[in-house]
Amino acid sequence: MSSLSTNPPEHDVSLAAARRAVAAAIRIVVFTGAGVSAESGIPTFRDALTGLWARHDPERLASADGFLAEPPLVWRWYAARRAAVRDCAPNPAHHAITRLQARQPGTTVVTQNVDGLHARAGNVDPVELHGNIVRARCLDECGWSGMADALEASDGRVPPHCPRCGALARPDVVWFGEMLPVAAWQRAEDACCAADLCLVVGTSGLVHPAAGLPLLAKAAGASIVVIGPAPTPLDAEADVVVRATAGTVLPAIVA
Ligand code: NAD
Ligand code: ZN
Repeated sequence: MSSLSTNPPEHDVSLAAARRAVAAAIRIVVFTGAGVSAESGIPTFRDALTGLWARHDPERLASADGFLAEPPLVWRWYAARRAAVRDCAPNPAHHAITRLQARQPGTTVVTQNVDGLHARAGNVDPVELHGNIVRARCLDECGWSGMADALEASDGRVPPHCPRCGALARPDVVWFGEMLPVAAWQRAEDACCAADLCLVVGTSGLVHPAAGLPLLAKAAGASIVVIGPAPTPLDAEADVVVRATAGTVLPAIVA
């Protein structure tokens, strides 16, 4: 029986510590992963392989080799994810991050997500490290990129072809084994090197090089606050871990 205890539960202590750390910080990097969109109804990486896709290996579907082996299969997987994202809306976690940025303008959002929900929630210029699922680009890198839905509708083939050079079009996302976009990576590194706080939200911390960014911030002197319902390798680096879902605690942390 703990009902007479006057000690606040551990969760309340870490929540209060996270709130203080955020309020005191000047330059904040909010580093997000699939977990921040989970409460919008978008499955996290491992969870995305349900139903039709359960028998596929995610690292193969999200790779150049996988695409080249079966272009229609991979294109359809992304088309299904795109449709799911279209039907979802930003959740209280995305909105809380937007409020944080409005209150503390030294806040930069660096996301591994490809769903565009930070921008839809009103975040100013989020750094999209892994691209955006709504766009397509030329597989042969002729320089064309555009909206995937529009290309699909005008072309009719699966996958559609690049309207500039006729090569296959591909999702404009970063696949396993590929380089991250140089400009996005540079902005993320710069923000981490200047940060006094890195708020890590909803990432397993397993996908590199992105997962190295909180360590870069820490090496540059930033405190680390981790928010997520399950343990991750980044917990060991954290000053504060709030073991909860993003949509429940971020509004309280930013309040
Ligand atoms: P991941 O799926 O590997 O890990 C998700 C993490 O979020 C886990 O630690 C999980 O415990 C946590 N989580 C689950 N529900 C949560 C909630 N409600 N609140 C807070 N945390 C929650 O995702 P990752 O670390 O982002 O890496 C996987 C890769 O797949 C990334 O490159 C990512 O871009 C991509 N991906 C993106 C999306 C998206 O854009 N929404 C979705 C799936 C995968
Ligand atoms: Zn082309």
